[in-house]
Amino acid sequence: MKKHNYSAGPCILPQEVFEKSAQAVLNFNNSGLSLLEMSHRSKDFVAVMDEVRALVLELLGLEGKGYQALFLQGGASLEFLMVPYNLMKVDGKAAYLDTGTWANNAIKEAKLFGETVVVGSSKEDNYNHIPTDYTIPADASYFHCTSNNTIFGTQMKSFPKTDIPVVCDMSSDIFSRTLDFTQFDLIYAGAQKNMGAAGATLVVVKEEILGKSGRTIPSILDYEKHIKAESMYNTPAVFAVYTCLLTLQWLKKQGGIAAIEKINEAKANLLYTEIDRNPLFIGTANPADRSFMNATFLLVNPEHQETFDKMWKAAGISGLPGHRSVGGYRASMYNALSLESVQVLVDVMKELETVYSNQSQLAEK
Ligand SMILES: *Cc1c(COP(=O)(O)O)cnc(C)c1O
Repeated sequence: MKKHNYSAGPCILPQEVFEKSAQAVLNFNNSGLSLLEMSHRSKDFVAVMDEVRALVLELLGLEGKGYQALFLQGGASLEFLMVPYNLMKVDGKAAYLDTGTWANNAIKEAKLFGETVVVGSSKEDNYNHIPTDYTIPADASYFHCTSNNTIFGTQMKSFPKTDIPVVCDMSSDIFSRTLDFTQFDLIYAGAQKNMGAAGATLVVVKEEILGKSGRTIPSILDYEKHIKAESMYNTPAVFAVYTCLLTLQWLKKQGGIAAIEKINEAKANLLYTEIDRNPLFIGTANPADRSFMNATFLLVNPEHQETFDKMWKAAGISGLPGHRSVGGYRASMYNALSLESVQVLVDVMKELETVYSNQSQLAEK
């Protein structure tokens, strides 16, 4: 039986993506060749790369606005260093918002390149909220933020207005909600959270911000070289890129980001309503900053854990434990997870409440 998959990443993808990509491994486009044994320069694969790059810009509303979409490798983690390499001016500085583990990892890499100003941080509160009231230095080369904090379950609902380029790690909420994407100058995301198989990283960059750092950039790390090579500077992660194409085609068929956003809101509302209503559970993120992708919560009484774990596993749920650094539970509700799957989890939470209220009634008698 197919599980209700709440894994944070790699994670659930639309069923048709699994089926079509499996078919492509056997016989791609009826070519008599597997996707895995054909040249990335073949007509068939170049068409995949062209289509997926165009579809990214179309879905984000960035067509014809000076942006390029690239499918690179090295994960979001390599972008932590490619961003300062390409954008931080020699002897310049960069501004970072510290909202969690991944933001912190990005800051660590930036420090290797120059002055890294952490303009705001929620570290002291175990990252349970998004900092507000911070100032971005006007002379920084760029401002970097993380739109969704996968581990702590917080999400930026708005982004600061600034005249310097805005860079955003959207690994875990890209294509999940409508935003004015023109407010960003560079967006990056590992494919494996909402887009496709692990191995590819999406970078969307406004071309005019490049070539200004004054640094000598190694070719493989140079966005301009990747743009010039149409995202084929070296052999791309062909399978992962193909799964991204299939996912984005699926998303377009659903009605694009605006349509999936409505479902994502319904899923998040259903689960958070239960977390708040059910006396056995408590949410860990500040309600105003709660992520619609990754909901983090705890059992009020840790003694209920064994029973709860048995119950959700029996209901066919998978991937619910929280990140090893925070514990508790994390329900990742990416685009491909259905509202029905969230209802299954909510039903188990209600059932747990019934089990324990019956027990305490018995104890009173
Ligand atoms: C998962 C994640 C990363 C790390 O991605 P890799 O592709 O493993 O390098 C970075 N940022 C965010 C927000 C993530 O969720």
